[in-house]
Amino acid sequence: MKIFAVGLNYASHNKEMKRTFESSEPVLFMKPDTALLKDGKPFFLPDFSEDVQYETELVVRVCRLGKNIAEQFAHRYYDQVTVGIDFTARDLQKKQKELGLPWEIAKAFDQSAAVGTFIPREEIGLLQELNFRLDINGETVQQGNSSEMIYSIDRIIAFISRFFTLKIGDLIFTGTPAGVGPVKINDHLQGFIEERKVLDFRVK
Ligand code: MG
Repeated sequence: MKIFAVGLNYASHNKEMKRTFESSEPVLFMKPDTALLKDGKPFFLPDFSEDVQYETELVVRVCRLGKNIAEQFAHRYYDQVTVGIDFTARDLQKKQKELGLPWEIAKAFDQSAAVGTFIPREEIGLLQELNFRLDINGETVQQGNSSEMIYSIDRIIAFISRFFTLKIGDLIFTGTPAGVGPVKINDHLQGFIEERKVLDFRVK
């Protein structure tokens, strides 16, 4: 099982990160299967960072084997969606960026890919028009709408599959809108698609 993640896919987030960089293609990175955190299990704050931040993202699950998928057929390749957290050690990421080094230690560490309960596509509205949000300790801290993505899910699937064979069960984090921020011990994270709660876990 592979976990893909798209960076810089919402203009509002790029602005808050002070990124003026514009790419003509999705910015892609990966996380290993050991990054997966699911079933409401707690996230343990790692000791190597002073600034672990949440990035709330829609996550889709691949349902068919595919390679070189045309964008117009990409919708056939994912059938479930949830909210996930792309945990990021922001201090390490900043350092790596400054040095021009890869991001993995800041983005792909154990438990850095939290996912909620997957919902079949047919149970929700149009995938490119979904509101999603994260509440921490009962207060909304981040919200977005998938219509604000720079690269649509179909476009992302087409792009990924040029380089990597997609397999059933692979996950794709589709990028975060504005509003990222730190987590601390005892925080209670709850993620929603529209008004449906799909993600619920604590930081320890
Ligand atoms: Mg992200």
